[in-house]
Amino acid sequence: MLDKTVFALSTPVGGAIAIMRISGENARPLLERLFTGRIAHRRVSYGRIVDENGEIIDACCAAFFEAPDSYTGEDMAEISVHGSLAVARRLAEAIESTGLAEKAGPGDFTRRAYLNGKMDLAEAEAVMDMVAASAERSRRAAAMQLEGRLSAVIASLYERIKLACARLANAMDDDTGEAELDEAALAAEFTAAANEAEELKEGGLRSRILREGARVAIIGSPNVGKSSLLNALIMRERAIVTAIPGTTRDTVEEQAEIEGLPVIFVDTAGIRETDDEVEKLGIERARREADYADLVLWLVDGTRAIRKEDIDVLSGVRGKKTAAVITKTDLDRAVYPDADGLINGLPAFPTSAVTGEGLTALRRGMAELLLPENPHSESAFPESIVTNSRHIEALGRAADALFAAARLIVSGETDAAYFEARSAMDAAAQILGTEDPGEELVDAVFSHFCMGK
Ligand code: GDP
Repeated sequence: MLDKTVFALSTPVGGAIAIMRISGENARPLLERLFTGRIAHRRVSYGRIVDENGEIIDACCAAFFEAPDSYTGEDMAEISVHGSLAVARRLAEAIESTGLAEKAGPGDFTRRAYLNGKMDLAEAEAVMDMVAASAERSRRAAAMQLEGRLSAVIASLYERIKLACARLANAMDDDTGEAELDEAALAAEFTAAANEAEELKEGGLRSRILREGARVAIIGSPNVGKSSLLNALIMRERAIVTAIPGTTRDTVEEQAEIEGLPVIFVDTAGIRETDDEVEKLGIERARREADYADLVLWLVDGTRAIRKEDIDVLSGVRGKKTAAVITKTDLDRAVYPDADGLINGLPAFPTSAVTGEGLTALRRGMAELLLPENPHSESAFPESIVTNSRHIEALGRAADALFAAARLIVSGETDAAYFEARSAMDAAAQILGTEDPGEELVDAVFSHFCMGK
């Protein structure tokens, strides 16, 4: 994508001025074609935008930045015109008709900045948080992240794991038996790193949940009672309850308070494989919602045995805090938790949206799952430096892998321990976006950006 020059309006239309950004090697030729003023690195000049037929579109100021000293690391231009829709539209048409640039997608400029090494992934995400910051506290957290404070902490955690990994690898490679492996010391080091990762995660989780609310996704096959449960939990009639499967094609979001915690419920379309195109869109969206959820409520219809489609829904959200909710307990019951209170290995909560049975226990269970009581975590609020759910998750994966590594070392399974430790390193590296995070992850990060950033 970097060989293309892209453009986008970086300001909302309707203000006094509108700023059109252009990035890529055609930025200069484009300005030369359309702009009458002077073009020089880091200079703002006044001139006119004239289309290819010689018609003046607007008087404007244009700034030019030469690679690599620009936001994206590429040649860049920023044209400030008057902020009306008519001007912005004509300018976009004029740019596009040169054939030198194409419309940018969401976050394309910051994505380029990341791909060109101007910032790491965590810093790029801080840019997004900064743009979206509605509260002073969010702005402060984003500013810290943008300054690289998070990156520094993660980089030092990464180094710590790497060192321990190297010690482990050394002992594994050594056939002479001279490099005696001090299992206890190494296991202690992995445990310490795991605790560090977990503390960062918990602090981040706590602060983000208290600040923005916990995202709870309600998933399940059509008709299991998702909308009804949502309504019962928030005691309103916002989600339309119907008996026709698959009508909730979009997601419905609701804010509520659960045991004193701010919670945002996401009611998703029934996740299941389908050939229906419209429904498929809803389903993909649902998977994504569950992806960004702090807690997933997996609903199973209490009146019928669990089916393959129920299990399929669940398999789409692996690696998430998940609770099973048995619905419709006021009717003839076909599903019961096992002796440990579990269904499919998940804590189970029998409920009825009609009588309200089980809702209090579900609320308590949700709060407990979202914020397990932890004596250390109080101090992490409110100035935790980890705020982004992607980072929180990666830290959780790192912590789990490191705890596993420590256990495996003690039990003499050094190969497996090494494997776990490497995956912890990968998780840390993914936060920074170093060591090729993969296109999918980068896409996921930048798809949440707004246009023109
Ligand atoms: P969704 O498709 O998963 O959102 O399911 P709905 O919430 O639309 O519910 C499907 C059907 O089950 C509707 O006819 C509801 O009235 C019914 N239903 C949902 N929850 C309960 C419950 O707790 N008890 C009873 N008796 N019926 C329920």
